[in-house]
Amino acid sequence: MSFIISAQDYEEMKKLASLVRVMNSFGHNPATSGNYSLRSKTAPEIALVSESGIDKSQFSENNFLPIFYQSRQMHEAYLSSGRKSSDETDIHLSLYQITKANCVLHSHILDSLLFADLFYGKPYATIEGLELLKGFKGIKTHELKIHIPIFDNTQDIAGLAEQIKPAILAQENNFGLLLRGHGVYVWGESVEEAKRHLEVFEYIFKYYLNSRRGY
Ligand SMILES: [Zn+2]
Repeated sequence: MSFIISAQDYEEMKKLASLVRVMNSFGHNPATSGNYSLRSKTAPEIALVSESGIDKSQFSENNFLPIFYQSRQMHEAYLSSGRKSSDETDIHLSLYQITKANCVLHSHILDSLLFADLFYGKPYATIEGLELLKGFKGIKTHELKIHIPIFDNTQDIAGLAEQIKPAILAQENNFGLLLRGHGVYVWGESVEEAKRHLEVFEYIFKYYLNSRRGY
């Protein structure tokens, strides 16, 4: 059974691949790390997830693979290719199942690790008082608290993919999560929105790392 990627999805893949290359140039993807995905707009049972092991400076729209949400398997048309989606595919699929995200970005940028370390032993980082919080969808004021869930790193990705669900669902405003010693996941309802949310996260990381406040 063949699988044809729709023109609509292909345009989104091109947009996201271009963003991946830009992000790579800013240190988000050392040593092929990081992974990216889209919710298919035309195949509702499928997410398009980045291929494992690709140097992100070379990443293109052809490096996305169709993965079924339910079975968590790659579409059969791709099975004989020997290609493999990211090791962290399950986390992307879980995020699509519990949020309205249409695009998920996963970065290993160093500041995200240092920021998570500021909140050692805490289940989430609480952010408040920054004007740029209004860069997050639906946020109209700096006068609110946003909790970013933090999880310990693990190689049990399937277990982690289940563990994140209640923590994300418990947050009224959810835009991302942190993995200690690992990186950050950020999502949005479009490639553009996910990129904007990532810019807010990077600003938050820098602010908290430079302000030397005690937490
Ligand atoms: Zn990772």
